[in-house]
Amino acid sequence: MTFAGGKQAGPEQAPAGSGDAGRRVLIKGGAVLSMDPQVGDFAAADVLIEGDTVAAVGPNLDASGAAVIDARGMIVMPGFIDTHHHHFETALRNFLPDGILVNDGHPHGAVNYYDHILQKFSLIYRPQDVYISELFGSLAQLDTGVTSVMDVSQIHHSPEHSDAVVKALRDAGRRSVFGYFEGWGEGTKYPEDARRLRKEYFSSDDQLLTMVMGGEIYIPDYEKSWKIGRDIAVPVALHVVGTFGMASTFDEIAKAGWFGPDNIFIHMTGMSDLAWKTAADAGAHVSLAVPIEMAMRHGMPPLQKALDLGMQPSLSSDVECTMTADPFTLMRSAFTLQRAFVNEAALAGKDRLPELLTCRDVIRFATREGAKGLRLDGKTGSLTPGKQADVILLDATAINTTPLNHVPGAVVTLMDRSNVDTVLVAGKIRKWRGQLLDADLAKLRRELEASRDYLFSAAGIPQELFREAPAAVPEPAKGA
Ligand SMILES: [Zn+2]
Repeated sequence: MTFAGGKQAGPEQAPAGSGDAGRRVLIKGGAVLSMDPQVGDFAAADVLIEGDTVAAVGPNLDASGAAVIDARGMIVMPGFIDTHHHHFETALRNFLPDGILVNDGHPHGAVNYYDHILQKFSLIYRPQDVYISELFGSLAQLDTGVTSVMDVSQIHHSPEHSDAVVKALRDAGRRSVFGYFEGWGEGTKYPEDARRLRKEYFSSDDQLLTMVMGGEIYIPDYEKSWKIGRDIAVPVALHVVGTFGMASTFDEIAKAGWFGPDNIFIHMTGMSDLAWKTAADAGAHVSLAVPIEMAMRHGMPPLQKALDLGMQPSLSSDVECTMTADPFTLMRSAFTLQRAFVNEAALAGKDRLPELLTCRDVIRFATREGAKGLRLDGKTGSLTPGKQADVILLDATAINTTPLNHVPGAVVTLMDRSNVDTVLVAGKIRKWRGQLLDADLAKLRRELEASRDYLFSAAGIPQELFREAPAAVPEPAKGA
C-alpha cells in the first residue's frame, strides 16, 4: 500500500498494525536527520521499521511487504526527549504566565510558584485530577513530537495518586520515565512506596515505562530517598536551584561522594564550582529548563558552564503553568541564549570565545543527550538500526518552512507544533498527518476543565482570565 504525502493530500488512513511484531513500515523518501554519526544524514532516504524497531536507514531500501508512508517533503528524525516536565500541572496551564519561583520580597513576587502551585493547588489534588492532567499533558507533548519524557510527579499524596500517574502515562502510550517524587499529607507513602512501585510496574526494562527516584535535597530525610533509589537500581533525580538556598547542602553531598552517573540534576543554577566539577567528574547528567529558568528567577541557565566542563545537557520544559512544553521553544531558547553570551563577548573584543552552539547541537540536546541522561540511549534518541522506532515526520513543505534549504536549521529556527505531521512511538503511529490517534480529545478536554474547576474552587483561588501581575509595568500614557 502507498499513501500520498502531505497534510493536504487527503484523508488516507494510517497503515494498520504499526508497531505490531513483524509488521513492516517503510517511511520513504524524506530528508533523514538520523542524529547518529555512524548512520549519517540523507537528503532523501528511507527508514524501515519492523515491529517496534528501526531495521534500516538508507536510500532506496528494499522492503517487500511493507506499508509505505510517503515522506517526500518531510524531515524524518528521532522523536524529541524532554527530561523534566510536571504533567500533573496541565490543569493549571498558564495560571502563572508572569509568575516567579518564590516570594523574595519584591512586589512582583506576590503571586509565585511556591505559594500557589506547591502550597495551595498541589495539596488538594485527588487521584482523578492527577490522572487527567497527566494523560492530557502527555498527549499534548506527543502531538508536538516529544516521544519520551521524564515526568516529575510531585503529587504522591497516597499510593492511589501514584497508581493514577502510572496509569495515565501508560494510557498515553508514550515512552515515559515515571519520576517518583514527593507527596504531602497523612496518606503519603513517599519514599518507601518506591519499592512497591518498582516491583509492581517497573520490574521489566523492556517496556515503554521506566522509573526514576526523586531525591530532593530540600526535603528532610532526603538521604533515605537516595538510598532507596540506589537500592532499587533506578536513577536519582532532583531539582538543584540556588533560589531555594540549596547550594550549601549540594556542596555537602558533593564532598561526601554521593554523586554518580545515575544522577539527573535539574537546573543547576547558582551552584558552586566545586559542586559542578564533582558532578562532571562523577558523570552526572544536567537537565536545563532554559525558558523557565530565565522567566521565573531560577538563575541564569548554566549552559556554558556545563559545556565548559565537557557536560552535554538535555533540555526540559518544566511547568506549563508558566511556559509551553514544546521542544521548538526549548531548542530556540538554548540556541539564542548561548549565542547571545558568545556574541556579546565577541563584540566586547574578547578573543578566547566559546564555540557558538549550532542548530544541530541543540537538536542533539533535545534527542540523544536526553536519551543518555534518562539512561534510554540504548533504546531511543537517534535513528539507529536496532533502536526502538521513535520517529517523527516534520512537514518542510509548510508555509513557515518552504523552501527547505537547511535541515537542522529548519527544525530549530523555523518550525513549531504545526509542522509535526506524523509521530511514531516504538513503531506505532500515534499522530498521523496532523491528527493525534486513539484519543478522544473533546471528552478529555471536558474532564480536564472539570478538574481545573474543582482545583481552583477547592484552593479558594478565583479563575481570572485577565489577572494583572501584582506589579505590572504601567502602560505609557496616551501620546507618550
Ligand atoms: Zn521542575
